[in-house]
Amino acid sequence: MTLKPIPFGKPMLGDAERAAVADVLAGTTLVHGPVTHAFEQAFAERAGARHAISVASCTAGLHLALLARGIGPGDAVVVPAMTHVATAHAVEFCGARPVFVDVQPDTGNLDPDGVERALTESKARAVMVVHYLGLPCEMDRINALAGKARAMVVEDCALALDATWDGRKAGTLGAVGCFSFYPVKHMTTIEGGMVTTNDDALAAAIAQRKAFGYDRTLDKRSKPGVYDVTVLGYNYRMNEVEAAVGLAQMAGLDEVQRRRANNDRVIRAGLAVLPEVTVFAPERGPAKSSHYCLNAVLPPDGSIDRDRVAALMKEDGIGTSIHYPEAVPLMTYYRDKYGYTPGSFPVAEWLARQTISLPVGPHLEDGDAERVAHSFVTAVAKARTEQSKGG
Ligand SMILES: *Cc1c(COP(=O)(O)O)cnc(C)c1O
Repeated sequence: MTLKPIPFGKPMLGDAERAAVADVLAGTTLVHGPVTHAFEQAFAERAGARHAISVASCTAGLHLALLARGIGPGDAVVVPAMTHVATAHAVEFCGARPVFVDVQPDTGNLDPDGVERALTESKARAVMVVHYLGLPCEMDRINALAGKARAMVVEDCALALDATWDGRKAGTLGAVGCFSFYPVKHMTTIEGGMVTTNDDALAAAIAQRKAFGYDRTLDKRSKPGVYDVTVLGYNYRMNEVEAAVGLAQMAGLDEVQRRRANNDRVIRAGLAVLPEVTVFAPERGPAKSSHYCLNAVLPPDGSIDRDRVAALMKEDGIGTSIHYPEAVPLMTYYRDKYGYTPGSFPVAEWLARQTISLPVGPHLEDGDAERVAHSFVTAVAKARTEQSKGG
C-alpha cells in the first residue's frame, strides 16, 4: 500500500479565490483598484499597523524599506548569516554592504550580542531582523541597541505572519515589516508581499518608490495622465488579481493558523523520543511563533546525516525542506565579493548542514501529523545505524 504523498507546503486555493479572481477579470480595473485597497486595509487591521502597502514581493518590500530611509552606497546594514538570500540581496540592491552576524543556536535568530558588536564596528544604518521560521527575535534588546546607534530596524516577516512579541504582531515591532505571499508561505497571492509601518513618512516614501517615483497617485491627478517624478522609483506594485486572491485567503487565515499550531503540537510530541535532536521551541519568553514549519536540528557531530533523513522521508512520501542550504555569506556571490571563509559563522553553518524543516501546514489531514513524526523518528534511527556502520 502506498500512502498519499504529503508535500512540505501546499497553497490552499478554493472556490472563494477562484470567484474573486473571476470578478476582477470580468472588470477593467487590473491595477490601482479597490481590491488592492481593501486587501491593504484588512492586512493593516490584522497586523495592528497604521499602514499596509502592497508590493510585488517581500524582496521588493525589503528593498523599498531601505530606499525609503535613504540607504545607499557607502552604508552598512546588519543581516543575519542564516536567512533567505533575499534579506541580504535587498541591501546589495541599494549598493550598501551587508554586515553578517551569526545566529543563536536555540532559535536561529539574530544574536543580540553580535548585533551590538556589528553596530559598534560598522556604524550600520539599519538592522535586518529575520524572525527565523516564524519565531520573533529578541526585539526589546535589538530595538534598544538599534535606537542607541540610530539604526532603522527592518523586520523580514516572510515566515512570521501573526507571530507575536509581548502580544504585539510581527511587522509592528521595528520601523518597517515585510511579508511574503509566495505560494508556500502562510498565505499566498501567487507572488506578492506587504509592507507594514506605523511611520507616516516611511509609508509615503515606500508608496512613492513602489510606483516609479510618481509625485501623485492616480486618484490625486487633477488632469488625467499628468504627474511629475521627484525620486527614482521602481515598478514593485501588486495587481488586482493578486490582491483578490490575498483578500480571499485572509478570510480563512484563523483556521489555517489553528491547524498549523495543532500540527506543530502533534509532531513535536512525537519527536520527544529523540533527545539528541534539537527542536526549536514555538515560544521563548515574550516571543510566540507563527508555526511556519517544525524545525529539527540534528547533532553538530554529524552522527546523523541530514540529507539521508530527508531521502528516507521522501521514500515515505513526506516532503521536507531546508532553511537554509548555506550561511548566506558563504553563498558564492557573497563569498566571492567579500571574501568570507568557512568557520566564520559556526552556528549558521551548522544549521545549514544539519537542519530539516517538517511540514505543519493546513494541507495535513487527519493522521498526517502523526505520520510525519513517525517517519522522521524512523528515518533518524535508520540514518544513525547506517552511519555508525560506516555505510
Ligand atoms: C520567502 C522569503 C523571502 C522572499 O519572499 P518573496 O516574496 O519571494 O520575495 C524573504 N525572506 C524570507 C525569510 C523568506 O522566507
